[in-house]
Amino acid sequence: MSREGAPGPIRANTVFDLHSHTTCSDGALEPRELIARAAEKGVDVLAITDHDTIDAYRNRGPLQDGPTLVSGIEFSTHWEHIGIHVLGLNIDLQCEAIRAGVRFQTAARQERARRIGENLAKMGIADAYEGAARLARGSYIGRPHFAQYLVDIGRVRSLDTAFRKFVGDGKAGDVRRHWAAMPQVVEWILEANGIPVLAHPLKYKLTRTRLKRLLGAFAAAGGQGMEVVSGQQNPQQTAGMAQVCADLGLLASRGSDFHAPGSPWAELGAGPPLPPHLTPVWERFA
Ligand code: AMP
Ligand code: MN
Ligand code: MN
Ligand code: MN
Repeated sequence: MSREGAPGPIRANTVFDLHSHTTCSDGALEPRELIARAAEKGVDVLAITDHDTIDAYRNRGPLQDGPTLVSGIEFSTHWEHIGIHVLGLNIDLQCEAIRAGVRFQTAARQERARRIGENLAKMGIADAYEGAARLARGSYIGRPHFAQYLVDIGRVRSLDTAFRKFVGDGKAGDVRRHWAAMPQVVEWILEANGIPVLAHPLKYKLTRTRLKRLLGAFAAAGGQGMEVVSGQQNPQQTAGMAQVCADLGLLASRGSDFHAPGSPWAELGAGPPLPPHLTPVWERFA
């Protein structure tokens, strides 16, 4: 599966969770805490897919018993002016292309944070960059830090409102142009012998036609899979994504997108199994 360890033969009831976050990006648990929780929740195969970083694989500490780890990352990128996320699964963590990609995205995240601060300043919110950077303690900085700052200064009551009004899709804090373009992130993943998978396709709130156009462009760039089961979805949504996946002949993935214990995030391992007529992405893990 990866240098992280072979899973052995895949049993029919093996529980895969191929999308999760740690404190190396915007998750609440340290890598070792995440792995322990995944074991508790019955996850057999886990991918840690932090936003634009692979640090969790450096900091996770020695592996004891627990799930088999599949190396992963969630790259931030854009397509036709919308922000999208692309998972790289089963990547070679030593690959120079991935490492260069991470360096590029880390610089982009930093520049983006400054721009978000400028955009918020134009709306009368002073010192948002400094506030968010303080919360980020000088490392990984993201929109959740800006959202927390807006709550802390009393501008909004909740993180959710901060996203809805200030940093969510289409708002002042939604700055996408610094990220590498979608074909570029796909190329980094392919160079690292990983599988590029479009993350949480329902999150972009696209019409079915436009989602298929996105996936067509993604496949043309070398993308290979999509998340069919992602976070908290209802059965109709899962059936809809399974249909899209089958129509486009893509590999199917499954992941909770776990960030922290408790709502609004899905629990590790949560969600239904993949519909049986689809080809699971793990069949292509070497
Ligand atoms: P960034 O990676 O800096 O673009 O930040 C995006 C992250 O913000 C997502 O990966 C989520 O973890 C988080 N997020 C998005 N929407 C919300 C929300 N409504 N409430 C809390 N966190 C959110
Ligand atoms: Mn996140
Ligand atoms: Mn995402
Ligand atoms: Mn995610």
